[in-house]
Amino acid sequence: MSTPAYDNDNIFAKILRGEIPSHKIYEDELTIAFLDVMPKSDGHALVLPKNPSRNIFDTAESDLNAVIATTQKIAKAAMAAFGADGVTVQQNNEGAGGQLVFHLHFHVVPRYEGVELRP
Ligand code: ADP
Repeated sequence: MSTPAYDNDNIFAKILRGEIPSHKIYEDELTIAFLDVMPKSDGHALVLPKNPSRNIFDTAESDLNAVIATTQKIAKAAMAAFGADGVTVQQNNEGAGGQLVFHLHFHVVPRYEGVELRP
């Protein structure tokens, strides 16, 4: 399969360039995390590699390793900071896979006993 080219105009690329604001909660050399603007639960965050990659199909293994390590940090932080009872980690690839923004990202969705996710 061939992965479509990375599009520099996607909204997360603009956030990474500082062209549009975000509520940043974590940053290191290779990754960044910020809150989702349409959270499915309180504390819903997104974790991205800083390097450009469209999705799981074209990501360098080093970036994937860095992103999953940051995802673990954010998941643990969500449990502590929001008093979550669990965390759902989700990652969508291509339109058929539910991906709407074409810069690789992991959703970190805190879960609360007895509380449904928002649509
Ligand atoms: P889906 O919407 O199906 O989960 P993605 O996996 O591509 O598709 O997720 C894109 C996510 O980006 C959505 O949860 C959306 O609310 C979020 N989002 C879109 N624009 C912004 C933004 N400017 N800042 C933070 N989150 C954003």
